[in-house]
Amino acid sequence: MSTVLVTGGNGYIGSHTVIELDKSGYDVVIADNLANSKMEVQNRLEKICGKRFRFYNVDCCDIDAMRKVFNENKIDSVIHFAGLKAVGESVRIPLDYYQNNIDSMITVARLMAEYNVRNLVFSSSATVYGMSEDVPFTEESPLGVCTNPYGWTKWMLEQILRDYAKANPDVRVCLLRYFNPVGAHESGLIGEDPRGIPNNLFPYISKVAGGTLECLTVFGDDYPTRDGTCIRDYIHVCDLAQGHVKAIDYLCRTDESVSVFNLGTGDGTTVKEAIAAFEKACGHEIKHVFGPRRAGDIAVSFAKTDKAEKILGFKAKYDINDMCSSCWKWQTMNPKGLED
Ligand code: NAD
Ligand code: UDP
Repeated sequence: MSTVLVTGGNGYIGSHTVIELDKSGYDVVIADNLANSKMEVQNRLEKICGKRFRFYNVDCCDIDAMRKVFNENKIDSVIHFAGLKAVGESVRIPLDYYQNNIDSMITVARLMAEYNVRNLVFSSSATVYGMSEDVPFTEESPLGVCTNPYGWTKWMLEQILRDYAKANPDVRVCLLRYFNPVGAHESGLIGEDPRGIPNNLFPYISKVAGGTLECLTVFGDDYPTRDGTCIRDYIHVCDLAQGHVKAIDYLCRTDESVSVFNLGTGDGTTVKEAIAAFEKACGHEIKHVFGPRRAGDIAVSFAKTDKAEKILGFKAKYDINDMCSSCWKWQTMNPKGLED
């Protein structure tokens, strides 16, 4: 059985990916320092999958602690989710973001070289396309100028991994550029569980719908889009998770040293449309007001998804209504998020 080390596997996307890997017959080992997730996730995964996963509470920047993980398990592939991801926070504490995100990836790559682990999937982001207005973004679209340190860590890590792969011809790296992951597992047992007041649209809408937050502010309604609000390519987290399984399958059969794939649906949804879809899912109005634009936001972002479909055999199957209803189920079953 092929073993996948999932760093950051206790987090939002990582935990959903663990389920899909398990369903597809992969053996899973998780490494996470709980910087942005709670141990209760492991209990929830046990309920969903009927088994307890091997879990290491380690910082991926700590090479000795991570060496223990590689020593105790015969790892075939790594999916590196571990990282800090709050855009606003990255502007306030840039050095923490550069140190954590870059050091954790380099440390894991060093150990992969030491233990002859060939396959690496890295969580990148559509943010690497920068402020370009040339949509849809294809994998060949030029990388842009990022607007915050978080985005730059993804941009830099893509380059670092290209250089790493060039110097190590046996290595196979897959860079996955996610668009906007939202939604939750159908069980309602795991989902996005941000600490404090959410920055992203869906967690914020969920909390307004659930009554924990009063009112959503829509950042700008004067964009050159069909209703004046920004367009994003929201992708169900379970589809995204499935995309990772396809990427691991692909790395096991490809000769290409570095491959890049967009993971999105190829469809754009405006903020107003997202609110309307959530209102349909929860059955009541979501209070919102219109405010100024948020710095760094682009009007439109969505993926061209042909490459992932053709080469990985990946196509998202859930639509915006599925994303909203699964978010709402997660919110109603866990109104205060998970216990620490
Ligand atoms: P998340 O915060 O829920 O999960 C990340 C996990 O990594 C957390 O459990 C955290 O505790 C852990 N972690 C952070 N630093 C660590 C370290 N040094 N050592 C060990 N564990 C560490 O975030 P997510 O939404 O699941 O995102 C996963 C990855 O995908 C991140 O790299 C993120 O940047 C990337 N990504 C996310 C989005 C998104 O919108 N959610 C979009 C594009 C890319
Ligand atoms: N957004 C909003 N109000 C919020 C949070 C987000 O209007 O409280 C908008 C934001 O301006 C963007 C869209 O929702 O147009 C998606 O934002 P999110 O932060 O979720 O994702 P990203 O900016 O990374 O695409």
